[in-house]
Amino acid sequence: MNLAQAFWQRLGQQPARVLLERLEPSGEVTWQQTRGAFVEEASRWMAALRAAGIGPGDRVALSLGKSAGLVAAHVAVLGVGAGAVPLNASLTPRELAAVLAQAEVRLAITTADLLARAPELRAAVRGPWWVTGETGPLPADTIPLASVLTAVAPGVEPIDRDDDDLALLLFTSGTTGVPKGVGLTHGNLRANLHALLVDTWEMCEDDRLLHALPPHHLHGLGLGVYGTLLVGNTAVLLERFDASVVVRALDAQRITVFMGVPTMYHRMAEVTEVGTLATMRLFACGSAPLSPETFRRFQDRFGFPIIERYGLTETGINTANPLHGRHRPGSVGLPLPGVDLGIFAPQTGRQLAPGEVGEIWVRGPNVFHGYWRNPEATAAAFCNGWFRTGDLGTMTADGYVTILGRIKELIIVGGTNVTPGEVETVLEGEPGVAECAVVGIPDADLGERVAAFVVPRQGEDPHELERRLRLRAEQQLAPYKCPRQYRFLPVLPRNSMGKVERGKLPLQG
Ligand code: AMP
Repeated sequence: MNLAQAFWQRLGQQPARVLLERLEPSGEVTWQQTRGAFVEEASRWMAALRAAGIGPGDRVALSLGKSAGLVAAHVAVLGVGAGAVPLNASLTPRELAAVLAQAEVRLAITTADLLARAPELRAAVRGPWWVTGETGPLPADTIPLASVLTAVAPGVEPIDRDDDDLALLLFTSGTTGVPKGVGLTHGNLRANLHALLVDTWEMCEDDRLLHALPPHHLHGLGLGVYGTLLVGNTAVLLERFDASVVVRALDAQRITVFMGVPTMYHRMAEVTEVGTLATMRLFACGSAPLSPETFRRFQDRFGFPIIERYGLTETGINTANPLHGRHRPGSVGLPLPGVDLGIFAPQTGRQLAPGEVGEIWVRGPNVFHGYWRNPEATAAAFCNGWFRTGDLGTMTADGYVTILGRIKELIIVGGTNVTPGEVETVLEGEPGVAECAVVGIPDADLGERVAAFVVPRQGEDPHELERRLRLRAEQQLAPYKCPRQYRFLPVLPRNSMGKVERGKLPLQG
């Protein structure tokens, strides 16, 4: 089934219900769209795509900020049977050109300023560009979006697709190495969104989601945008995250669900004026490790646990903490319904017992079928039908999973493994630490030794903090796990999803 048909089924009912709203940083809602108006707009987009000859087997690149048009355009691309390739506008022109070339897109639909900033991208697409927000003359073969959409009549419906057909082609965030294309199918997305949003988080039409994530990633686009269209809730779109704007909006906009990355929660926990949160029911978090310290500070101030979930671009969401019952800070929860998850010895492929540390392997309807035109990378990523996540973790006997870092980030001190996550958790338990990242640095004697990059809380004296951290580490960690070196930084280098970019940490000097 085409995912867009599933959206259509939901949005075809109760056309007067509000689907999308736009929230300004001032706190004002400046625009609303009902389901009926959205369906008409998406259908007009589909007519325009069809008229341009776009259909099954084609791919369309999209970068329209967080506009209403972006949502309609995504539905329309899926609806005509093509694959959507979201572009992250914060990438450099070189990175964007690499994505466009790999994906071989037939049409790019973007804001004019993207093309103005990187005119060389024009050549990376063998087809037209439709652009919005144009202010000056446009390059050849670049068409103003408004003229495309007014030239057609709506009334077009999504066509059938198989569950195994490509819906969304994402590129891994590539904090290291060249980004790889990850093709998610209609079946992958439908199964995963249902298992997480409907079965686990009980999202329904009455929910009001505050959407402050970037819309080009599985989190903001898949869960936030596609999830909204599947569930039929209202999404309140805020272009850019700002902690005080978000906290104010929770009450003012009667928000029920917020989805964030750990950095957002870390900042929200610093906001002093928190309202009654009378309508809130779920603060969800993922994409990077949430420290127990941020969990605790947030809970103290907001009175809500942060519900963590764990996923990858390749698999969608694999685990989540339950909505009701015990939330275990530090754990990413239980495998979602239909997701099979195990801990394996990465070298031998032997499945490990509860409590043992190994690589997290996953299989289920959520798992992608392989890297885009990259059979070598695909073969390396699967073993006996399981997808090897590259994440280190453990699982308790009752199924709760804890992530301990990436295998590649494993530190080997004199032949003994140290997982950065374990050391980070101990250091972040010290109240003077805002956040930290633990890495291995070369050591002539031991191969590697542990180093800690620490962001102190305001007013902390780094020397005094280092003394306390050394003491704390000695008390709680085996000697080989204790950081030999501490460096203090004002912030940790992070990408747009809040993941620490370890390669950018100043290892020397
Ligand atoms: P991406 O494919 O860019 O979404 O990155 C996926 C990676 O993010 C995973 O392999 C994990 O290393 C990390 N990740 C995602 N969610 C979590 C989480 N809740 N806790 C810790 N790490 C996470």
